[in-house]
Amino acid sequence: MKYKKPPRLGIALIVSGPSGAGKSTVCQALRKIKGDLHFSVSCTTREPRPGEKDGIEYYFIGNDEFKRRIENDEFIEHADVHGHLYGTLRKEVIDFVKKGRDVLLDIDVQGAMQIRSKTENDEVLRSSTEFVFIGPPNFTELERRLRSRATETEDAIRTRLENARKELDCWDKYDYLLINKDIDKTVEDLKCLLDILHKSTKRLEDSGFYV
Ligand code: 5GP
Repeated sequence: MKYKKPPRLGIALIVSGPSGAGKSTVCQALRKIKGDLHFSVSCTTREPRPGEKDGIEYYFIGNDEFKRRIENDEFIEHADVHGHLYGTLRKEVIDFVKKGRDVLLDIDVQGAMQIRSKTENDEVLRSSTEFVFIGPPNFTELERRLRSRATETEDAIRTRLENARKELDCWDKYDYLLINKDIDKTVEDLKCLLDILHKSTKRLEDSGFYV
């Protein structure tokens, strides 16, 4: 009996969900548990929040620099989210999955759907991506969580709430849905999901298990 070769590509775990669903908290916790998981650092034109550092949470760049990078085809997706530009750098994802590393992407629905449509013609993206939607238990709870963060102005909160309604409609375009009632449970579910995805037969070489 011959074992199949190890998986060729890492998994690009694409996690979306509206602001206030707890997506970023869940992603941060997963990164702590899975030390070898690479976090895809996005570019954004929004201002850093207190405590955020360039190159850690995001690459904070200006509009001109963002446009230059679009022209250079450096992004696998980019979108206007809540009035600012955000984009996923090709090198943050493709270079890592090609080396067999798992990559975590915390991006909005527009960006996730752009990547989804690219999977049709891109073999690396098709074989590596998995799409996970993290939703709140209900809209009231989402609003409560958004307001309790107190990092945004009232206007910004309203924009995020409007966008949240549109994003919630997209949950069924994802492969997996996690309802975040309890952070620890959701983190555990996401960790288990990643472990199980590694056992998928589609991730193994076709050389034949039993020979
Ligand atoms: P925040 O400004 O609160 O960090 O993020 C706002 C939203 O932008 C979140 O939903 C986050 O997932 C999303 N986001 C972060 N990086 C990217 C990216 O590279 N592309 C897209 N499309 N959305 C992103």
